[in-house]
Amino acid sequence: MARTKHSDRAASRRPVKTDEPSLGGFREALRVGADFALSDVDTHGTPNYDGGKQDGKRDLGTAEAEQSDLLERLYAESTAGAKRAVLLVVQGMDTSGKGGVMRHVVAVNPEGIKATAFKAPTEEELAHDFLWRIRKALPMAGQLGVFDRSHYEDVLVVRVHDLVPEEEWSTRYETINAFEREVVDSGTTIVKVMLHVSSAEQKERLMERLDRPDKYYKYNPGDVDERKRWHGYMEAYQAALTKCSTDAAPWYVVPADRKWYARLAVQQLLLETLRDMDLTWPAADFDVAAEKARLAAT
Ligand code: AMP
Ligand code: MG
Repeated sequence: MARTKHSDRAASRRPVKTDEPSLGGFREALRVGADFALSDVDTHGTPNYDGGKQDGKRDLGTAEAEQSDLLERLYAESTAGAKRAVLLVVQGMDTSGKGGVMRHVVAVNPEGIKATAFKAPTEEELAHDFLWRIRKALPMAGQLGVFDRSHYEDVLVVRVHDLVPEEEWSTRYETINAFEREVVDSGTTIVKVMLHVSSAEQKERLMERLDRPDKYYKYNPGDVDERKRWHGYMEAYQAALTKCSTDAAPWYVVPADRKWYARLAVQQLLLETLRDMDLTWPAADFDVAAEKARLAAT
């Protein structure tokens, strides 16, 4: 036991510190391109990362400070009138780790987050166009919006279960691309992530939910029936990923059989996006010297 502890600590010692960010390249490694095939993805893999579980957990923790700083800058610039926001869309089969991403990556910054979990639509939502509830959940300027499931359900579960006729769902890919283009043009950077688990891994995770009273609440008997449609879901994902991975809003597929890797990869995808935004602190809209003098005089 003590031995394990010791080697854990040794593994957590960081290499030489430089000014360069220690990680990078996750977007290139995980992006869905023209010839993408979901069936080629090794769900157990750790693309673009050489470390193991302990390294991954350490790197996740190390990057939290930078993530917080960048998100605070995003919020700060909005107080000076900037209109930018970021939207992180997280999709994946049941047990793929969407909740874990919310708890471990997103929860780092409770302020400035607008998180929404999309369930089966209510009657009111069904009475509107499928993007109606999505538009209402978009982040405001300065916010990080996070979708746990999204408008993609309307070409995933809806397609697999024929909840609307094919003539209808088949036009939605174009509708989604146009919608996302509009969101991006309004100043919101979109990061779309599919957490990709294997069917075998899902079976283990569902079994664990049945073995643990503290996980019963996540279990739904319907999850077992959905497993019978695994192939249909993978086909629907393949279509959504390839038809809707655009320059404006690319898709990233994250192997998710190892939870620690999936969390690190999503965090890094978000970080790389934030770094690219050149987020700077807004200048004071008051005379700093005059304010100092006024304050000193009190
Ligand atoms: P969970 O995320 O495990 O709490 O489950 C939410 C459920 O809502 C999943 O079974 C989704 O497939 C379902 N859901 C989400 N959006 C839609 C939609 N637009 N149409 C039908 N079902 C949906
Ligand atoms: Mg569920």
